[in-house]
Amino acid sequence: MSRDADEGRLQAIKGMNDVLPPESAKWNYIERRARSLFEGHGYREIRIPILEYTSLFVRTIGEATDVVEKEMYTFLDRDKRSITLRPEGTASAVRAYLEHSVHVKEPVTRWYYSGPMFRHERPQKGRYRQFYQMGVEAFGVAEPTIDAEQIALLQTFFADLGITGLDVLVNSVGGPEDRPLYRAALLSYLEPRRASLCEDCQRRLVTNPLRVLDCKVEGCARAIQGAPSVLDHLGQGAREHFEGVTEALKELEVPFRVEPRLVRGLDYYTGTIFEVRAIASDLGAQNTLGGGGRYDSLVREMGGPSTPAIGFAFGMERLALTLPGEPETFDVAPEVFFASHGEAARLRCLKLAQKLRARGFRIELWHRTTSMKAQMKRADKLLARTVVVVGDEELADQHLVLRDMKSGEQRRIAEDELVPELKKILRG
Ligand code: AMP
Repeated sequence: MSRDADEGRLQAIKGMNDVLPPESAKWNYIERRARSLFEGHGYREIRIPILEYTSLFVRTIGEATDVVEKEMYTFLDRDKRSITLRPEGTASAVRAYLEHSVHVKEPVTRWYYSGPMFRHERPQKGRYRQFYQMGVEAFGVAEPTIDAEQIALLQTFFADLGITGLDVLVNSVGGPEDRPLYRAALLSYLEPRRASLCEDCQRRLVTNPLRVLDCKVEGCARAIQGAPSVLDHLGQGAREHFEGVTEALKELEVPFRVEPRLVRGLDYYTGTIFEVRAIASDLGAQNTLGGGGRYDSLVREMGGPSTPAIGFAFGMERLALTLPGEPETFDVAPEVFFASHGEAARLRCLKLAQKLRARGFRIELWHRTTSMKAQMKRADKLLARTVVVVGDEELADQHLVLRDMKSGEQRRIAEDELVPELKKILRG
């Protein structure tokens, strides 16, 4: 089918997905847990725009990264300014931090964000063109304990959700002062092996040789097997910091592995970097659930004062795919389902339901004119905890029938008995 014909069809853009119930219930559950955990660590939410000027991402993520080179959704707006759908959250967080002079107002800033990101990648399971991330950023702390705290936060979050087979990888890519030394060592190792590298990596030798370590092409993966370790090329500062991180991780009893080949796709990282992978999942090469690291130079490079910073992000889609449990089990069931017979009874239920909602009960009304049997079937399907039935008889004597769907017991009660009876069943 031609591209034009594609556009005429009523379908979502390739790599961009709808999240429907009950899957969305799983997402909500993850989001609620993450928010509560982030807030429990002192992070507060920021909301950042989905669009930014393109130059922001070019300057922060780096010109020679895959994201900037070939994955950004960039276009001219009506004022002919080049704008980009955000491919990640850190760049905007740093922009907001500087734009609002937050560094002047507080010595330490902890933020979290959530929302859609956009990268024009090749879609496959666990990799999409619109995907959702939740992430944290901490500004103003240089001490290694915060690195360990963030790594522990990410690991604990996944483990507490019931995900098993987690692999926590940590590494240090050193500061800007260490980079030239390692780059030179890596280049003198890779240059003689140039012929066995893929086309992209041959180009990376010039633009960004560290990225070769991350290439999944078989020839490249083989070629880097004996590559020098970045950890052997750290200056004293970076080495001591990294020792501080691993020591704190041991103190926290976080299971982790030092992986000197670990590199990340964005250029702004300095020092500690980390990833948490779900190795027992069926996500294949897309098994990195979340990752992050330090970006101690970025705030200064963007025109601000020298400010150490560290953050991570995890992807919602991959996490939802990995999280055990059928999506239905995350649905929030109604506490009371109203079933009625006839228009007058329906109206009475409508009013009663409104009253109960005002008192905090979760209620669902059927509304449609169908048989009582169909309504009970629906209540069953929704896993409603109780059903209130109002038929002709109940209408006549201002009573109603309350059915406990778990025990199957049902009783005719007066209307003013409803709230205490419901409380007994629902709140024990
Ligand atoms: P990054 O921003 O590249 O460090 O990625 C952090 C996390 O976001 C990854 O571990 C994934 O869980 C998720 N992620 C990144 N890119 C994608 C994508 N194209 N599709 C789905 N999830 C993604």
